[in-house]
Amino acid sequence: MRPLLLILALLVAPSVHAQVTVIRAGHVVDVAAGRAVPNQSILVRDGVIEAVGPNLAVPAGAEVIDLSGSYVLPGLIDAHTHVGVTELPGAKNNDYGSYYIGSLIEDTAYRAVQGTMQARAYLEAGFTWIRDTGNNGSYGDVAVKRAIEGGWIPGPNMSVAGIMIAPYGGQFQMQPEKPDLGNPEYTYADTQDEIRLAVRKNIHFGATTIKLIVDNQPYYYSAEDVRAAVEEAGAVGVKVMAHATSDEGMRNAILGGVASIEHGFQPSDETLKLMVEHGTYLVGTDFPKSFSERRYPATLERNRRAFAAGVKMAFGSDVVYYREGWTKGELVLEFTDTYKDSGFPNDYILRMMTMNAADLIGVKAGEVKAGFEGSLVAVAANPLDDITALRNVSFVMKDGVVYKRNGEFRFDLPRTLDNPYRKPQRGNLFRR
Ligand SMILES: [Zn+2]
Repeated sequence: MRPLLLILALLVAPSVHAQVTVIRAGHVVDVAAGRAVPNQSILVRDGVIEAVGPNLAVPAGAEVIDLSGSYVLPGLIDAHTHVGVTELPGAKNNDYGSYYIGSLIEDTAYRAVQGTMQARAYLEAGFTWIRDTGNNGSYGDVAVKRAIEGGWIPGPNMSVAGIMIAPYGGQFQMQPEKPDLGNPEYTYADTQDEIRLAVRKNIHFGATTIKLIVDNQPYYYSAEDVRAAVEEAGAVGVKVMAHATSDEGMRNAILGGVASIEHGFQPSDETLKLMVEHGTYLVGTDFPKSFSERRYPATLERNRRAFAAGVKMAFGSDVVYYREGWTKGELVLEFTDTYKDSGFPNDYILRMMTMNAADLIGVKAGEVKAGFEGSLVAVAANPLDDITALRNVSFVMKDGVVYKRNGEFRFDLPRTLDNPYRKPQRGNLFRR
């Protein structure tokens, strides 16, 4: 090969996906069917699952990974998180002051660094996708996402909301002398033209999902307001989520066509029915009892009603708090207690954390199936029998690259500075 061609070939071939891997799994957890299938092999090539079956031939040069003592399942997904904001230590749920002050005093650079740490914590715990839903200053989430995609830092794949769009004031109470303190947390958009412009700007700066704050101010977004955002984002393949906690706010968001309701604490039964009719996901952000004792009974009651109504649900933690001795990934896995206490079967909790969340984000992940993303985790026990088995992930593969083996996390610094300046373009919004 001529030197120039050789150099080109080396530049073109991404080293991270160079190898083919065959995983010998003791069991593969089929989350769609809700069962564990014994003695399966998984062939992953170029970051994608190529085949799953009992007796797969090992292609020449493939690496074989022995997970014959483990349960292998798709990488976990948190569909509602914030990598760049943490409430002050000791804060309890709905401690508005803590959240407000944290947003005001921490700049974007600091939050991006925090996001770098949290992204690794997520990956280490077994999460291979997260949807970041805002509060990262001025696009700190986009910075973290780009660094992960460039191979600079380890972390899950990310869908990011950039800057949240809200009626005047965002989620804060301003004082008249300092009305701009809500920037850059929120873009205030009160007319439908302003909403459309805010969507366009956000996507231009790197958002891959849009978040509307529907009902945090005296003026709620109407169904027509929401529809304006859904149309504008939908024109370039981007989904819209709605932060809505009241029944009226939820209804407006559902009728406006959002992909998901975030929080959705107070739905009437009619509104839950409306969600089923429109195929709207509920991302309940259900804090475990240890964090939110006061709200816990209402959370369980809402979950039982939503489950009985047949509302589609995706896992989303909204974990913005901190607890001594715990990583963020470990805290997030405690949320399965809430669903257990809500009476959800383990197979449904697992679907919320994998295929449902992937469907909501709009990516081909969340199942161990040919054609799906090569993102897998392994645990020692069957999570269909005991969902807390997820708290000890011993193996993590993301897009065909192994980050954790035998409980040991490893990240190799890149040998090439992959730093593409990406011009935003249609069809290229979710993945590079
Ligand atoms: Zn949130």
